[in-house]
Amino acid sequence: MKSSVGNGLKLTFYGGVNEIGGNKILLEDADTRVLLDFGMSFSERRRFYHEPYLSPRDEKGLLEFGILPAFKGVYRFDLSSPAVDAVLLSHSHSDHASCVCFLNREIPVYCGETTASLLRSLNEVRARSFETDIDGLQIRAFRTGDRFKVGSLEIEPIHVDHSVPGAYGFIIHASEGTVVYTGDFRIHGVKAQMTHEFVEEAERADPAVMICEGTNISGADVSSEDEVKTKLDKVVKGTDRLVLADFSYADIDRFRTFYEVAQKNKRCLAISMRQAYIFDRLRHEEDLDLPEIDGESLVVFQRSRKKLHKWEDELRNRFNVKESKDIKNMQESVLMVCSLFDLRELIEIRPKSGSSYIHSSSEPVNEEGEIEFTRLLNWLDHFGLPMYQIHCSGHIMPNELKSIMAEVNAKKIYPIHTEHPELFAKFMANCGEIELPRKQDR
Ligand SMILES: [Zn+2]
Ligand SMILES: [Zn+2]
Repeated sequence: MKSSVGNGLKLTFYGGVNEIGGNKILLEDADTRVLLDFGMSFSERRRFYHEPYLSPRDEKGLLEFGILPAFKGVYRFDLSSPAVDAVLLSHSHSDHASCVCFLNREIPVYCGETTASLLRSLNEVRARSFETDIDGLQIRAFRTGDRFKVGSLEIEPIHVDHSVPGAYGFIIHASEGTVVYTGDFRIHGVKAQMTHEFVEEAERADPAVMICEGTNISGADVSSEDEVKTKLDKVVKGTDRLVLADFSYADIDRFRTFYEVAQKNKRCLAISMRQAYIFDRLRHEEDLDLPEIDGESLVVFQRSRKKLHKWEDELRNRFNVKESKDIKNMQESVLMVCSLFDLRELIEIRPKSGSSYIHSSSEPVNEEGEIEFTRLLNWLDHFGLPMYQIHCSGHIMPNELKSIMAEVNAKKIYPIHTEHPELFAKFMANCGEIELPRKQDR
């Protein structure tokens, strides 16, 4: 269903409706058409596929089940001429960005420089498949302060605080009014100021429309990255043996929190090869202020592998890489990042009695996640490792969102990226006219 905002301004929601992520929103202004994000709808994909035995072989399955909308002139496997002028990516999370793999290579993709670096480095370290390959994509990277034009639209990307660096909201000046798109954002991270700057600009633009994320409208919490740091410090200080931890590898703010806590407690932080590769690619980004992999405060850990990829060989040649046998002998002086994929290493590391495990990402939200989580708990049980859950969300909380919406004062609001749009509409009722988007499948 298309939503007409003015005579010439139209919005079509191909994803991000009644679900967290999968944002794919078509904005049409006169003859100009842009897509706001082009993310995978994982909840839809999970209904039909499960890795590794039942995964799609090509786009046909994804189109068959409507996981990808039948949108002519957008995909690389469709021979028609491009039907959109650009894709604007808010950030690199897969639920916003991963469908760019399928994009017709003639269509440019605009994103922040950090997002471009993250997408490129992920492309290098991930197993290649038709769902991950971004080769040949026309990426046009912007920075805060840039403005650019696509057809009749003037686009102002403004940084926001989120659980991955390089996240932006967009203020889009169309011929019949301004559209504000929040992407994913929050104000309880270490870079809340960036979100405040976005909100101030959005308010100044007097928008006709605000397309707004509502992830935490149900299941809210009060926490902050600062609080995460205090709690982590307490656990690390109280553990006199090995500390293991898991967090999202692209969450640079969380990485910094762990790094600082490790330093404070005279431990080195051991990160994975993949994390090290990505950080190395981001090192030129001064704003991120990433510490050097110096082999002392920050070290690289490699799990045992039969055969190494080229990029892993390259890392091994540059850094003094630690393996399980090394970690085994330095348990009191290391804080080691240990994802689900690294659990096997515990058999060799043999954490000493008194070691602990910190789970620093969201708790499971679906059945598949629960099964995985139980498996993790079984491993921890076996090795006598208590689990501490220490995390704060990448998304804004309801009261804070409500005051932002009152401040921006858009004429019309579309809640997206939430499983509870009706709740959102009731809670935000006095913030403006709220229209619930309907998903366009075909
Ligand atoms: Zn998202
Ligand atoms: Zn996100």
